[in-house]
Amino acid sequence: MTEVADLVRSELLEASPEQIELAMQQAEPMVLRGLLYQLTGDDEVAATRIEIDPTGFQTFMKVVDDDVALLRRRAIEFLDGYRSAGAGSLDIGPEERLPLSLQLTLGEEINQEEFEFCLEELALDPWVRCLEWQLPPPQDRLEEFSVTVIGAGLGGLNVALMLERAGIPYTVIEKNAGVGGTWWETRYPGARVDTPSRGYTHIYGAHFPYSSPFCDWPRTSATSTGLQTASSCGRTSSSTRRCAR
Ligand SMILES: Cc1cc2nc3c(=O)[nH]c(=O)nc-3n(C[C@H](O)[C@H](O)[C@H](O)COP(=O)(O)OP(=O)(O)OC[C@H]3O[C@@H](n4cnc5c(N)ncnc54)[C@H](O)[C@@H]3O)c2cc1C
Repeated sequence: MTEVADLVRSELLEASPEQIELAMQQAEPMVLRGLLYQLTGDDEVAATRIEIDPTGFQTFMKVVDDDVALLRRRAIEFLDGYRSAGAGSLDIGPEERLPLSLQLTLGEEINQEEFEFCLEELALDPWVRCLEWQLPPPQDRLEEFSVTVIGAGLGGLNVALMLERAGIPYTVIEKNAGVGGTWWETRYPGARVDTPSRGYTHIYGAHFPYSSPFCDWPRTSATSTGLQTASSCGRTSSSTRRCAR
């Protein structure tokens, strides 16, 4: 599957300088602040000042106006350098920088527990929430134990994925003709997620190349199907009532 990063990289290589500048004008400065610091370690970026955003319903921080231009300029410089170098695969940068980078984006200090929560939410490790055996059981015990999962909505698919990874045999039983649960059934015109697709997704599918930041139902359902297919190692079941492992 083409990952979202591949699509973004090819878009970047084709973009004109004006398009890049326009995109950076749209970028949220608090996000740029943490992301640029994570990628570059630039102390000037870390030193940009913030203040309470007076326009929000809740208390949010914003970069002070005088420093926003610096962030946008640094972001353009970074993208120029990155694409001149061929826009190759980009990793997340040094792990030890992550706590400060996250604090720069959030605009507040976070403790170790909050840091771990943020790491999960970022989906840097897609298996961070899965079962890890403390003492792996013998194969014959695994094989004689099986689990029946009722329903192939997001919840059931998640359980199937975790069971697959843990090596526990399972069967998913679904009353509908396809997987996706609510997203299979709800098809009124314009039906779509109301939280960003990147956030409303299984952690395992975080890099799915969404067609829109707020996907409509066919895409949302397709995401679920991909997840289900992956969970059953290629044995698809989207047109059957029973998804058997
Ligand atoms: C338009 C819309 C927008 C939404 N937007 C958001 C959003 O932005 N953010 C968010 O967090 N949530 C959103 N939701 C909520 C969404 O419903 C849930 O997040 C999620 O789909 C729930 O998954 P689930 O697996 O728990 O349940 P379901 O999706 O309901 O899956 C349950 C499955 O079990 C099957 N089943 C039930 N009983 C049986 C049985 N006896 N035998 C066999 N199969 C059975 C059903 O057919 C179904 O496939 C939205 C929902 C809709 C409709």
